[in-house]
Amino acid sequence: MTELNVLISGAGIAGCTLAYWLARGGHAVTVVERSGSLRSSGSPVDVRGPAADVAERMNIAAQLREARIRLAGMTFVDSSGHRIARVDIEQLRSSIVPKDIEIARGDLARILHAASAGDAEYVFGDSIKSLDQDETGVDVAFERSPPRRFDLVIGADGLHSIVRRLALGADSEFVRHAGLYAATVSLPATSDAGREMFMLNTPGKLAALHPCQGAPLAYFVFWHSEIPDFDYTDLEQHKRILEQNFADIGWRVPEFLAAALAATDMYFDSVARVDVPDWARGRIALLGDASSCVSLFGDGSTLAIAGAYELARAVNESPADPPGAFRRYQAVHGRLVASKQKNLSFMASRIVPKTEMGIWLSTRIFWRTIAGVAAAVRLSKQLHRK
Ligand SMILES: Cc1cc2nc3c(=O)[nH]c(=O)nc-3n(C[C@H](O)[C@H](O)[C@H](O)COP(=O)(O)OP(=O)(O)OC[C@H]3O[C@@H](n4cnc5c(N)ncnc54)[C@H](O)[C@@H]3O)c2cc1C
Repeated sequence: MTELNVLISGAGIAGCTLAYWLARGGHAVTVVERSGSLRSSGSPVDVRGPAADVAERMNIAAQLREARIRLAGMTFVDSSGHRIARVDIEQLRSSIVPKDIEIARGDLARILHAASAGDAEYVFGDSIKSLDQDETGVDVAFERSPPRRFDLVIGADGLHSIVRRLALGADSEFVRHAGLYAATVSLPATSDAGREMFMLNTPGKLAALHPCQGAPLAYFVFWHSEIPDFDYTDLEQHKRILEQNFADIGWRVPEFLAAALAATDMYFDSVARVDVPDWARGRIALLGDASSCVSLFGDGSTLAIAGAYELARAVNESPADPPGAFRRYQAVHGRLVASKQKNLSFMASRIVPKTEMGIWLSTRIFWRTIAGVAAAVRLSKQLHRK
């Protein structure tokens, strides 16, 4: 088999999974990560369906289950903190999606990195500066490291992918603001809410407290037209935006804002759709959020893991024909992505309703209906077993 020399940009969920599977295929893998170390922030994500199967094949399913978040329920409160509705998440999950694992993004990244670190070279604190490809390979210049030549380059570097920008075109061609911004910030451990998640909806805004296994997080999501000078790297700007949008909405939000204002690391980004018609050009391909972002509701990680597996499988099957492998990867994985992207605006409107009526319908009807369906499924399973 042809052994390839592959560069992956981004040691996130997609990049670490791909590194594992390409190394298993016998290829020499280098991962370059802009951050100085593995990034640990971010809200809980789900490892669902096809990604749970990939985790089984990587022998990390037990570790993921060990680190998983055991959420009991989701309580909706009003601005005074009074409970207005509750969904039994434990029952919902065990009835409808028993194999799904909810886990802190940082824990998922750590486990995936550990699985691949022995067989791949990781370079932290660097980034690709330029890419120049010909028929047999890609010359890569880095911000810090000396230039190198690779057989393939994969952009697994997220929503603001440098590989996409250098190889395919400006962000404005591919990235569409979906109308929302989202932020997560760590809270002091004393704010721990046990196993219950609490959510406050006001029109167009959601503030939530996620217990996250003793490392609680505040979660902010809000509808906002595209902020013209928004800079996803500018922490001080993020603090100002949060303050402008979440002051005076009540409940424990002042406490969450205080944590955000004191934070030195916070996830804050626009919720965006990335639509890249062709995920590859020659010997360069995109993976995860870089090619097809559906961030916000946890599916991004499932798609990143499932996509990494498909991409590695295609490359491992025909290493001498990268363009053919990339086409097969997109044909298979593109179907899964399309089904998830369809749900984004529907779920956004349920989770962050824009009006009082929308909030009433969401908390009293939508979530209760889902809980009712879960209870019915559970009952039918129990009757079936008897
Ligand atoms: C720190 C962090 C927190 C997050 N928190 C949330 C959240 O709270 N809610 C949510 O919906 N989604 C969040 N996301 C996005 C979510 O992780 C992804 O949607 C999903 O996991 C898909 O994974 P990915 O590997 O494609 O992208 P990501 O998980 O975003 O990983 C991309 C990786 O590439 C790295 N990178 C970026 N630019 C470069 C560059 N120029 N050179 C080298 N490396 C680069 C990043 O540092 C990161 O490690 C977060 C992402 C990160 C990085």
